[in-house]
Amino acid sequence: MEEHILKGKGAKSRFGDHLWLDITLLGRHHIEHNLREVKEICESFLGIDPAEKWIPVRPAQHYTMGGVRTNPTGESRKLKGLFAAGEAACWDMHGFNRLGGNSVAETVVAGMIVGEFIADFCDNIGSNFDIPMGLVNEFGRREEAKLKVLLNGGGTENAFKLNMEMQDTMTRCVGIFRSGEALQEGVAKLQELLVRSRNIGVSNRVPGVNPELVMAYRVQKMIKLALTVSYGALQRTESRGAHFRRDFPHRNDQQWLKRTLSFWRDDNATLPELEYEDLDVMKMELPPGWRGYGAKDYIDHPDTPKRAAEVEEIKQRMAGQDRYAVQDAIMSYTDKLPAKLRGLNERIDEPLDR
Ligand SMILES: Cc1cc2nc3c(=O)[nH]c(=O)nc-3n(C[C@H](O)[C@H](O)[C@H](O)COP(=O)(O)OP(=O)(O)OC[C@H]3O[C@@H](n4cnc5c(N)ncnc54)[C@H](O)[C@@H]3O)c2cc1C
Repeated sequence: MEEHILKGKGAKSRFGDHLWLDITLLGRHHIEHNLREVKEICESFLGIDPAEKWIPVRPAQHYTMGGVRTNPTGESRKLKGLFAAGEAACWDMHGFNRLGGNSVAETVVAGMIVGEFIADFCDNIGSNFDIPMGLVNEFGRREEAKLKVLLNGGGTENAFKLNMEMQDTMTRCVGIFRSGEALQEGVAKLQELLVRSRNIGVSNRVPGVNPELVMAYRVQKMIKLALTVSYGALQRTESRGAHFRRDFPHRNDQQWLKRTLSFWRDDNATLPELEYEDLDVMKMELPPGWRGYGAKDYIDHPDTPKRAAEVEEIKQRMAGQDRYAVQDAIMSYTDKLPAKLRGLNERIDEPLDR
């Protein structure tokens, strides 16, 4: 779809270019019985009957991989008392392996585990941290001052326009098929937008419910996030999961089996500072390998064969022993769980007999 649209073959609409999907040939009976969800989406969101009309379709973002880097309890490593779970977190459950269905699993499992840790944190007297009221007030005043500047500072940039330009840049340069050249162009454009976002003014000067002011307040943060994604993608000279680089089509565990951490430490910067966090293959239950789909054309991490052999050796040595002992020998994880969730997990077809 994206290829076709990029070649200029998309149909124009005020929401951007799209393609037409014709499912009318399937017939009303099939659509109403086997594709009920598609029919409902078409009716509710587009107001069309897909048994009669073509459906406008285009690629869209489905999930954000990456988020607040947390430790196993879901707490941020940088800010005490900040917890993240679900799509907003970088919590080690799926990482780049975001297949369909994983996100609901991630959200539900993280909700259960991290929720317990949050409750423990709130319960624990040691979690009390003294934030001086002066600091809280200063932060409030700083944000208030920003709103005042937006309302009365005489800035000339339009927040909605910046938002549209950011969207267009991300779609054009940081989409499904990426390349160094396009990413570089995207980063440069976003840097320009970030600088311009420091000179936003609003035409509607009402301080209360004011969508223009909300957009003006948020768009700079959104541009920074867009820069975080695109600059990180530019540096990552490999393909991994949903990050596909035409100029580096292979996964390269040797060089890139690591997380990108990004920081905005300087308010005047136009790029985030990037740091990298290595993954320890020797602690993994299953070292990264070929999972049976796509081409087997990646570069292994030097520890992968070592760890694969180690896991195989444990499995053979412990053949016939119960699965909990084998799991424990390969990768022990129970100490990472809240105390009340440390019991043995039961399978429907294999009741616990201890
Ligand atoms: C079109 C589409 C189809 C999908 N299909 C599937 C699928 O088939 N299977 C699957 O596993 N996943 C699917 N996903 C992904 C999945 O739905 C999401 O990853 C998941 O719902 C994220 O849950 P969450 O609770 O982490 O975040 P969200 O569901 O995004 O919840 C975040 C909540 O925080 C609120 N919020 C935001 N900012 C603030 C604030 N400042 N103050 C207070 N509240 C705030 C938001 O309003 C929202 O209610 C799909 C996603 C999309 C977009």
